[in-house]
Amino acid sequence: MWKGILFIISLGLFQANCFSQSEAEFKSKFRDLSTFKSSQGKKSLVGKDYDILYHRLALHIDPRQRHMSGKVTSYFKPLIPNFSRISFDLSDSLNVDSVLFHSNKTTFTHARNTLEITLNGVIAMDKQDSIHVYYSGDPTGNPSRSYERESGRANSSAPIIWTLSQPYGAMEWWPCKQSLYDKIDSLDMEITVPKGNKAAGIGVLASIQEINDSTQTYFWRHRYPITTYLVATAVTNYDSFSDWVTFKNGDSLEILNYVFPENRIYMEEAVKKTIPIMQLFDSLIGTYPFIGEKYGHAEFLRGGGMEHQTMSFMGSWNFGLIAHELAHQWFGNQVTCGSWSDLWLNEGFATYFTLLAREALQDSITWRNVQLGSQERAMRETDESVFVIDTFDVSRLFSSHLTYNKGAQLLRMIQWQIGDSLFYRGLRNYLSSPNLNHGFARTSDLKFHLESTSSKDLSEFFDDWFYGTGNPHYTINWSQKGKVIDIRVNQTTNGDVDFFEMPIQLRLRNTVNQKSILLNPSSSSFGQSFEVDFAVDSVDFDPNLWVLATSDVIHTDDVDKEVLIFPNPATDYLTLSSFGYPFTTYRIVNVTGQTVVEGAFDVNQKIFKTIDISGITNGLYFIEFMDKELSVVARFIKK
Ligand SMILES: [Zn+2]
Repeated sequence: MWKGILFIISLGLFQANCFSQSEAEFKSKFRDLSTFKSSQGKKSLVGKDYDILYHRLALHIDPRQRHMSGKVTSYFKPLIPNFSRISFDLSDSLNVDSVLFHSNKTTFTHARNTLEITLNGVIAMDKQDSIHVYYSGDPTGNPSRSYERESGRANSSAPIIWTLSQPYGAMEWWPCKQSLYDKIDSLDMEITVPKGNKAAGIGVLASIQEINDSTQTYFWRHRYPITTYLVATAVTNYDSFSDWVTFKNGDSLEILNYVFPENRIYMEEAVKKTIPIMQLFDSLIGTYPFIGEKYGHAEFLRGGGMEHQTMSFMGSWNFGLIAHELAHQWFGNQVTCGSWSDLWLNEGFATYFTLLAREALQDSITWRNVQLGSQERAMRETDESVFVIDTFDVSRLFSSHLTYNKGAQLLRMIQWQIGDSLFYRGLRNYLSSPNLNHGFARTSDLKFHLESTSSKDLSEFFDDWFYGTGNPHYTINWSQKGKVIDIRVNQTTNGDVDFFEMPIQLRLRNTVNQKSILLNPSSSSFGQSFEVDFAVDSVDFDPNLWVLATSDVIHTDDVDKEVLIFPNPATDYLTLSSFGYPFTTYRIVNVTGQTVVEGAFDVNQKIFKTIDISGITNGLYFIEFMDKELSVVARFIKK
């Protein structure tokens, strides 16, 4: 969906503030969420009994007015015998003027956002038929703001109307079947607008027909399946231009851009970024899914963007937003989430493919900062899972922390575990699977394709990372004796998962040498030794940012030489000595990594310091002596 993320590039560690604007924009999308939820707080049963085949939306839209009118023709096929009534989702705020069935007016009821039509006669199962709904009204005041009129452009007073229906807003401007199980097989849009305006649309612009001196009709034709929330139009005094992208196999595709005339010179340059991104996605995951038609952009006035099929609506033109909305054409549009609970199949993928585009096409510092920012954001929300439980909680649904960034980092961790080639092959199989291609998918479908491609069981991964909450924290203790480096890895967690199984990479280095090692901890306290033929100065945790985790790396020198603790085992008091080395603080950590006692050494420290440990429970503990440079750990038993 829309993505108001501004990727501000800075060299700061975590871009803590760079997303805040998008959240404000997001919140403003729903003027009154409570009204919205009460009007939507039911699962629609509309349309379960028929298959929608085709819609033609013939709409009259004048951006100077809030009022619109339309005629929507629907072709359908009953899925039950003796079909005699058909229903559509349609907001009560619109007026149905008449309904025509077999050229005759027919009766209908319109209440509780449902239009229910009595057919004059019975239609057999699987027999195609059609119906026309004539309606009108002002769709601009509805709670999900799916049809908006604005006139606040910076350098133009021209008004604009645009639609943005995801997730539940399509019925606020046209009679439809708001489902995530039945795509419209084929779509035509005939948008009649005052001359001087253009109407953006889905698919190919088949013709522009003059109606009279003051109006003309834009005919858009789309011959791929499309889900209801991806149908859209936008009308204003657009200027337009095209770019062309050529693929490795010689195919080329038009990128058609509808932009505000006052911004055209800037846009012509800005939109060229689309070309290498599309070539990259084509090489990673396969042909653009609507290759027989076009891709395009239409400028609008909402922050962020929306991936309308074959024509994304854009509130800004930065690399990240262009890549994000383009990635949705595969993830979200070609294969659409089959439940809002699985919205990460749209947004996590679009977020992750934006990161991949940055990694491939931008400099490494930019990529690294954005990846760090995404990880940081993905770890902010530890109470809820990526799987959405309450799909009517729209702010949770579009949580940047969970659905976008944690979703993206889940994909990155799968790629880390199964390797690049199997990861992309699995995604190609997912996208091209006959069950899913131009249809809908659940998380289990993605899991199936990744598992069957990689021959790896991902059940534990999805249980922990997708259905579970929180993330791991790793404490890495290391010490070196000659050619042997000892590593101890402790994992603690901050959600409802006891232990995250995950391979981790460490980089051992000094000023001239470096070596990467891979550990696969099997429990929350894990140790392993490695040979290394240089003196290690420092150890970096996960240098390539594969794992969604926080970490501490502690250099633990040879315990016997540096510190002394006694008695051991100890009961009430423990005496510490570092033989004069001026450590500043100490802490006692239990086997699960929690600090149970901590304190500071006196500045004028004598050789020995005695501390009270009577308050801690019996068992094995680690005591860590620390200063800015050095950390030394000893172990003792309390009894
Ligand atoms: Zn998105």
